[in-house]
Amino acid sequence: FFITLEGGEGSGKSTQARRLNVLLRRMGRDVVLTREPGGTTHGEAIREMLLSGLIRPFGSEAEALFFAVARREHVLHLIRPALEEGQVVVCDRFADSTRAYQGVAGVPQETILRLEEIALTGTQPDLTLILDIDPAVGLARAAGRSAADRFEADELALHEARRHAFLAIAKAEPERCVVIDASLTADEIAAQIEAAVGARLPR
Ligand code: C5P
Repeated sequence: FFITLEGGEGSGKSTQARRLNVLLRRMGRDVVLTREPGGTTHGEAIREMLLSGLIRPFGSEAEALFFAVARREHVLHLIRPALEEGQVVVCDRFADSTRAYQGVAGVPQETILRLEEIALTGTQPDLTLILDIDPAVGLARAAGRSAADRFEADELALHEARRHAFLAIAKAEPERCVVIDASLTADEIAAQIEAAVGARLPR
């Protein structure tokens, strides 16, 4: 069973991925907790290239290509083998992040979907938890202070566009996606996630 967590900055995604890992283990499941970009040694190397800004001068489409390379490596060498062994895979960000981030950055939808096909090679998440939060609240949480101090209005608009992209994905694929209210406390978010996973995880 393949679970992905998606959402913007300050949505508490990584904290919740760790908590979900603990919960599933308590339920007696074998779990692999992983993240994107990254996950494997080669994938983490590409993560460094992407997050350091090395690829940015080449443009958003080139970034999308690198994400696709990292994701393909991740699927082929970590995610799919684990799923084949019957493990539950919990992944902090996956293909929907590319749809939202690179999509909002201007990469055409058909390019994103083609790259997704190449990267996923048929392995789709069974459940995607979309941690939804007002970016002004999420960014303030992430920065530990007022968002307005640090982020320009146009940057906030970019985060808002990504939020809408995630919500549009959830709306288009309601059988795969569950929207989680990430404005609540960590315990309340974890409870929503427990309910969503409990309802869908096969016995
Ligand atoms: O999950 P985390 O916040 O650590 O992700 C690292 C960063 O990578 C994101 O904040 C985002 O800026 C970037 N990213 C991206 N496109 C993706 C996935 C992540 O730009 N498809």
